[in-house]
Amino acid sequence: MRAVQVRRTGGPEVLEVGEVEEPVPGPGQVLVEVDAAGVNYIDTYLRSGTYPMPTPFGVGLEGAGRVVGLGEGVEPDGDLREGALVAWKQAPGSCAERVVVDAAEAVPVPDGVDAETAAALMLQGLTAHYLATSTYPVAEGDTVVVHAGAGGVGLLLTQMVVRRGGRVLATTSTPEKADLARGAGAAEVLGYEGFAARARELTGGEGVAAVYDGVGRATFAEGLDALRPRGVMVLFGGASGPVEPFDPQVLNAKGSLYVTRPSLGAYTRTREELLRRTGDVLAWAAADELSVRVGGRYALEETARAHEDLEGRRTTGKLLVLPGG
Ligand code: NDP
Repeated sequence: MRAVQVRRTGGPEVLEVGEVEEPVPGPGQVLVEVDAAGVNYIDTYLRSGTYPMPTPFGVGLEGAGRVVGLGEGVEPDGDLREGALVAWKQAPGSCAERVVVDAAEAVPVPDGVDAETAAALMLQGLTAHYLATSTYPVAEGDTVVVHAGAGGVGLLLTQMVVRRGGRVLATTSTPEKADLARGAGAAEVLGYEGFAARARELTGGEGVAAVYDGVGRATFAEGLDALRPRGVMVLFGGASGPVEPFDPQVLNAKGSLYVTRPSLGAYTRTREELLRRTGDVLAWAAADELSVRVGGRYALEETARAHEDLEGRRTTGKLLVLPGG
């Protein structure tokens, strides 16, 4: 079968598309024919070596597709039976025609949700869900900053904050992205330049309840100035690079602030938690209460271009690789 692999870490050019042996599902695993694989920022951190991984490894973590084989111990007439449409956030090597998924990770996709939408929601949708409902649970009337408001996480997070009664001040880098962020429900769209001062103005000098920051190095320090006393800095990624070390005394001086660096794994610790969050997100999509923007579709051979586009800030919403073309 065809798959995308990394043999040595580096830029997008190290992504190789070629024939590999079809994987065999082991105990407690299913083999899936991939309809759509999601492209995420973490794929670029793994490819570049920012998050070290032994090479060679298969690219892509997230996807959706039909079960075509069952490993030992997986019930042949259960939710994960052959032919069932399933989605997952964590199956290394998902940018391939077929991938092995742990049954503990495979989530049955409900009627009314197609494979592309399911693939688009597993990693970024679940992330938006735990950020808005658990890391800093937005309360009615809260104002928060969402950085990269037209990105994959940003568009979904904005909608989830708004559905909880929050007000979003989104940052974006272009007028087109600003329009998309507004369309997702952002009350105000800011440029990155001077965003903290602007957020303060827009909250009558008080500051915002939380900053959701997936941009990292370029925005973190200034974001602390946008927070109200006891406000929460949610640093969930580093699209512009990792943040500089900082002195915790700063948190005292700026009003007893909180800083957290969450990860999806810690917010989907049990099968029950994974299914609860996925259940919400997929049900909202099925009911048209959550809009999912697929900003780019790529063939397997174009995975390197998807990485270039993502890192080059040229994308909006979700990027999908479609192994079937
Ligand atoms: P996005 O679609 O949001 O793409 C990244 C966006 O970041 C860009 O489009 C760009 O938007 C903005 N950006 C700002 N500065 C830069 C820069 N210097 N270089 C590149 N991009 C920049 O990506 P994702 O939705 O996939 O991920 C967003 C963040 O969320 C990432 O940091 C990712 O690692 C993190 N994440 C964290 C998870 C967790 O559990 N902790 C899980 C999932 C994602 P603009 O042009 O408008 O500024």
